[in-house]
Amino acid sequence: MAMIGSYCTVCKKRESFFYRKYSGQQLCKKCLSESIETKVRTTITKYHMLKFNDKLAIAVSGGKDSLSLLHILAKLQKYRPKTTLVAVTIDEGIKGYRDEALDIAIKNCKTLDVPLHIVSFKKLFGLTLDELITKVRANKQTELTSCAYCGVLRRRAINIAARAVGATKIATGHTLDDEAQTVLMNILRGDIARLSKEKPATNQVHPMLIRKIKPFCEIPENESALYAYVKKITFQDTPCPYASEALRNDMRAMLNHMEEKHAGTKFTISRTIEKLRPAIEQITIKEDFKICKECGEPSAQNYCKTCEMLHQIL
Ligand code: SF4
Ligand code: ZN
Ligand code: ZN
Repeated sequence: MAMIGSYCTVCKKRESFFYRKYSGQQLCKKCLSESIETKVRTTITKYHMLKFNDKLAIAVSGGKDSLSLLHILAKLQKYRPKTTLVAVTIDEGIKGYRDEALDIAIKNCKTLDVPLHIVSFKKLFGLTLDELITKVRANKQTELTSCAYCGVLRRRAINIAARAVGATKIATGHTLDDEAQTVLMNILRGDIARLSKEKPATNQVHPMLIRKIKPFCEIPENESALYAYVKKITFQDTPCPYASEALRNDMRAMLNHMEEKHAGTKFTISRTIEKLRPAIEQITIKEDFKICKECGEPSAQNYCKTCEMLHQIL
């Protein structure tokens, strides 16, 4: 917590607003937001996330992380005038939830003068997430969580949306917390392939799969929220009614507890995996992409995960 009456360790003139426990710094609002922007800039450089003339599709959900990212990337454009920004939003079709998020995404993009491209599950896959979950539940196909269905379809939708706008990279608002949770989840599931694939800047594995970058991978989630608060960014904070990833929720609770007791835990996990990744990449089998016989999208099997999933349901 920021101590009442204490001063910012960086500028030494403004009152502290936030105590950054892992670095021991007291930060005023201005120094906090500037340090987050600087961190994003250095992360982009460190992981070679952008080329000078990239067209970047920012996946905007309407939540705090993707909107803080959108605002920061729009601000950082002054350092990269040749990088073009476009926002893509996926309308999964979640009644009473996604509609509000769409409005918020539209308003933020308008303020920042960033074009927005919206793609819906209904148009791409013929049904909304609400309709899909109703079918799954009626057929008692409950072995997967709602998020598992949504995740597969959303990844596909974002890639299609990015291709439609001619993007060369996709930026997502995954934070340090998301990254640390994902690492532990992949370890608990024994999913070595994912440990090697899910990194700050993905490899180009197929010309139809747009590379993804995570400029917030070293920004803790609470700081992303504070950035949105300090910058008065309007975002959606009601949770998705399907939010059901039990393992991720357990990881989040455990990591927050560890971070509280041992500040810097999330960074340690992230740094450790970055050091280990080259060795893990050596022992994982490279996916050989074919074209899905049903939809024509790249796939490791004859039929892609999306088509397989939709076949089971429809
Ligand atoms: Fe989809 Fe789950 Fe996110 Fe809801 S919480 S939008 S179901 S991934
Ligand atoms: Zn300051
Ligand atoms: Zn397919």
